[in-house]
Order: sequence, then C-alpha cells, then structure tokens
Amino acid sequence: MSKVLCVLYPDPAPGYPPHYVRDEIPIITTYADGQMAPTPTEPLGFRPGELVGSVSGELGLRSYLEKLGHELIVTSDKDGPNSEFEKMLPDAEVVISQPFWPAYLTKERIIKAKKLKLALTAGIGSDHIDLEAAAHAHITVAEVTGSNSVSVAEHVVMVMLSMVRNYLPSHEIAVHGGWNIADCVSRSYDIEGMHFGTIGAGRIGLAVLRRLKPFGLHLHYTQRHRLSSEIEQELGLIFHPDAETLVSAVDFVNLQIPLYPSTEHLFDDKMFARMKRGSYLINSARGKLVDRDAVVRAVTSGHIAGYAGDVWFPEPAPPDHPWRTMPFNGMTPHISGTSLSAQARYAAGTLEILESYFGGVPIREEYLIVDGGVLAGTGAKSYRLT
Ligand code: NAD
Repeated sequence: MSKVLCVLYPDPAPGYPPHYVRDEIPIITTYADGQMAPTPTEPLGFRPGELVGSVSGELGLRSYLEKLGHELIVTSDKDGPNSEFEKMLPDAEVVISQPFWPAYLTKERIIKAKKLKLALTAGIGSDHIDLEAAAHAHITVAEVTGSNSVSVAEHVVMVMLSMVRNYLPSHEIAVHGGWNIADCVSRSYDIEGMHFGTIGAGRIGLAVLRRLKPFGLHLHYTQRHRLSSEIEQELGLIFHPDAETLVSAVDFVNLQIPLYPSTEHLFDDKMFARMKRGSYLINSARGKLVDRDAVVRAVTSGHIAGYAGDVWFPEPAPPDHPWRTMPFNGMTPHISGTSLSAQARYAAGTLEILESYFGGVPIREEYLIVDGGVLAGTGAKSYRLT
C-alpha cells in the first residue's frame, strides 16, 4: 500500500460543488502537435467540466486509488514546517501538486521525503520542485504536458487585447455610471500592424503565435530550438537569436519559457531598458522570470505600458505584493491553466501517469521531466539544471 499526498487549492468560498453554468465541455482527443490527449484505461472519477482542482474535487482520484488499496491524503495546507503537507511528506511515496497552488518541494523537503518516488505535477511546469535534488534522490518528476497549453494561450490573447484596448478601466467606468469616452480611449490602440514577440515558442508559445496570426501582427520569436522552416513560413515568423534582440524589436513581449536557475530574473532593469517605450509584457510562464521590483519601476515610470499575467512568487502571493496594486497591471491569481476544461485534461493525465506508475509500465516520454537521475523527456528538451 502506498501513501499518495495530493496538494490542491482550497474549495470555492461559497462551498463545494459550485453551481455550474454549463452542462458540458468539448472533449479534445488530440493536441495541435499531434500528441494524444490523456488516455487512462480506468474510468474517470469525475464528469469532465466539474471542478476537480480544489480539495473536494480530489482530481477524481479517490475511487481509483482506494480500489488498489492505496491511501489518498488531500490537503491545501502546504506552507511552513507545521503544514499538513510537511507533516505527511516523510511517509509519502507519491506527491501530486498543481502549479496554481504549488507544494514547494525544496531540497530540504526532498531530504525529509525518504519514501518519495514520484512527484507528479497536475498541470505543466515543475519548477516548484528542486529538479536537481529530485534527480539526485532518483525521484521521477512527471507533468501532464500539453494538457493546458491552449488554456494558457487563450489567456495570453485575452490579457493582451484587454491591455491594449484599455478594457478593464473602461469596464469600470461603465459599471460606475460613467461615460467619459476620452478617459476610456486615451490609452486604447488596435493591434493590427504591431509587432508581437514570444520568448519560448514551445507548445504554448506556438499556440499563441497561431492564434495571433489572423490579427495581422508581425510575429517574432526566440527559443532554444529553432522551429521548422515550414512553421516559420506558414506563420511568417521572424526569428531572433536571443531575448535581448527580440525585446527591442516588438510592441508586445510574451514570456513562455520554463523557470530554472539561469532563467530566473531574465527580465531585470537592463532587459526592461531594451524594451520599446510603450510596449507591453505578458508573463503567464513563471513569476520569477522577472525581477519583481524592476517590473514595478518599468510600469510606474511609464517605460512599459502594461504588465499582465497570472504567475507570481511565491504563490499564493502575499496581500501586499506590489504587482497587485502597481499601475496598468492585468494580473490575476494563477488561473490561466486551470479552467474547468483544462482540469478535465490534467486530471485524466494524472490518472494516466498513476496507472503507468502503479502498473509498472513506462510513463509517456513527453510527460517526463526527471527520470533515472537526469532530465528526461520534455525535461531534457525544455529545462536545465543550472
Ligand atoms: P514547452 O516545453 O512546450 O516549451 C518551452 C520552450 O522554451 C521549449 O521549446 C524550449 O526550447 C524553450 N526554452 C527553454 N529555455 C529557453 C531559453 N532560456 N531561451 C529560449 N527558449 C527556451 O513548454 P510549454 O508547455 O509551452 O510551457 C512553457 C511554460 O509555461 C512552462 O514551463 C510553465 O512554466 C508555464 N506554464 C504556465 C501555465 C499557467 O497556468 N500559467 C500553464 C502551463 C505552463
């Protein structure tokens, strides 16, 4: 019997389950790059479209795990030495956590987690785990690659349009009885003809580029692995050898690379100074890719026209985090990858990975981040340990 420790975000404040506004969601079986969506063999312990990412939803895993005689512990209490997570960790063989409410598996916690074999990210992005320490301890790190790529890409397009059209302040004016058109439009522009650049054109970055193509923007990108010439031609992409050259050429910068030691604080005062005056930065990748206070300086001085995204450090962000109140921010809590549609896919993918693990069969290569003491699968392509 194994102990499976699952950390999920708290239930809705009015109670669980919420009132659902729709009765069904489209079922996606294949992703844009041809990858198959999750294919567990066991029945799902939920109806797609239900809230399974919060504690009472349990990712729909309880019936499957208990049928096999395993113990499932679900908690949202994850921070500090007296947290439920830290207390339960030494006995856990599997830890499941979502990036939206990350159970930070630091080196110190990994040392305490003597029985831990599998750290499973229900979602995408495993930077909340010290990957080097996990590799050293021969813990497998896996995530549900592809499960919420489109969810995030749609969010990027939403915040980009919202910022450039001055949507939220204009909405506030309408809600509060106002009608001053000039106040609404003094910061409002069309994006047609502007230049958009993404740092990272993997699953999400490329999905954003594809969605923006019909808007008539000039599309730029940089990333570690250059895309095929067919894709570059199809989308009319302009490739840059590095982030520095890209940011000075575009009106929108989108961050879509993983966080690892050498990408931390990629956006500091120097990088912001390279950006065009009046450009916008969108970050739905990871909060620590940017220097917290450098963003505040760049927006407050008016050098950049706006900053939007949904990723912070730490998460949950403290109430006094300056990104909550700085001017021209389009921040949300970490939500872009956990729409009800995304949850259905990453909960199914979590089940698929658990089936592989407990069934003693290899986990799909594209789900692997660390395996056998080294970066593996998607981890080998997208991450670095330094
Ligand atoms: P991906 O692995 O498909 O693509 C990442 C790309 O970044 C890779 O192609 C890689 O070559 C490139 N890259 C890595 N380091 C680089 C560097 N230093 N410079 C240039 N390119 C580099 O990943 P993805 O699915 O597109 O996700 C990207 C990131 O988005 C994740 O790592 C995660 O942190 C974040 N994410 C956030 C949410 C959310 O809810 N906000 C959801 C999913 C993923």
